[in-house]
Amino acid sequence: MDPTVRAIHALYASFAYAPPHHQWTVLAAVVATAPDAPDNIISIATGTKCAPAARLSPHGEAVHDCHAEVLARRAALRWLFAEVLRLRATSTSTWLVAAADGRCALRPGVRLALYVSALPCGDASMRTLAALQDPAAAKLMSSAFFPALAPGAVSRGRDDYARLGVLRTKPGRADSPPTRCMACSDKLARWATLGVQGALGARVLAPMYLSDVIVGDVPPALHALALEDCARAFSARVGALDGLPPEYAPHAPTVHFTSEPFVHSRTVLGSPSSSNESLCWTADAAPRPEILIAGLRRGTSPKHRYRPKSLPAVSRLALLALYTQLAPDEPLSDTTTYESVKFRATAYQAAKRRLIGPGTPFAGWVATGAACQQFNAHGDVVPGAHLALDESTEDLPVVVS
Ligand SMILES: [Zn+2]
Repeated sequence: MDPTVRAIHALYASFAYAPPHHQWTVLAAVVATAPDAPDNIISIATGTKCAPAARLSPHGEAVHDCHAEVLARRAALRWLFAEVLRLRATSTSTWLVAAADGRCALRPGVRLALYVSALPCGDASMRTLAALQDPAAAKLMSSAFFPALAPGAVSRGRDDYARLGVLRTKPGRADSPPTRCMACSDKLARWATLGVQGALGARVLAPMYLSDVIVGDVPPALHALALEDCARAFSARVGALDGLPPEYAPHAPTVHFTSEPFVHSRTVLGSPSSSNESLCWTADAAPRPEILIAGLRRGTSPKHRYRPKSLPAVSRLALLALYTQLAPDEPLSDTTTYESVKFRATAYQAAKRRLIGPGTPFAGWVATGAACQQFNAHGDVVPGAHLALDESTEDLPVVVS
């Protein structure tokens, strides 16, 4: 896997970007591989920040969770959507194939890998963090200071290192304002069950799973511990999970470690603080990456934040606009909300209920909230639009061009 990581680092270096003030960050990338083609780095992102719960936008223009893994998945979704359009236009793709149901699937032999330059935050990183901290600080975060957690409850940040297998919200720092963003470990486990295409992608893409997760910056002496933690965090704690719609199934990714150093990591820079900025890039799109700060493109003035050309490419509003290109037969009315488009993916929603609904392994999942999903394709909030998902809804036909 090291040549793949070196190629990612070389591409990142070609952007000639550095976080300001020598602050560190985390780098993530999604790579598609095939037996008969060079590796295809389809997305690259950096970032360590997410929006406080009090500052979530209802209009879809701001990216709330700017951790590298989350941005890299969304940027990869943009690439997958664009590849669907290319496949439809040319009838050829090295990576995707038209499935019998009209959607697109990964071509046989194609694998998706996620690289992340440090252990994902949350469950996968708790014991490694504790092992690397000074003993006094680790003891302060230990179970002696926290009450027992009720079944299905969510731990905040790094509270109580010793609780393993639990859902955690971001961020790790106890002095940061609380958020409604789940930790990257939890999101990886969700992608391992529901796929990286998400609800928005589910009607044009068959479920797509990460085959491999490549993690950097874990000392060799801790590989065995971190491997055990990743296996639990990404898949084992979800279990076999019966009762999913037939096309969904838990897929445990294979975890690899790399010793290739990331130039802007905490370990290399030795800086005490992480950067507020995120970089976000999708292959075969704009040549230059976007730089985001507080979930918006750097330099966007408040009054221009809703303009299409100011939107972050991975914002919900921009992804909804791209989705409408894939589904031209489904014009969105002014009262069609982002949430209602996601609810059209009924098999996906059934699988999601099986994973995070009442009595399930992830019953404590903290959603960003319906209030952030009631915007239409113009970014306007549609009053009274929130839907209660009807479990008896017939599966809608998939989108066929
Ligand atoms: Zn994270």
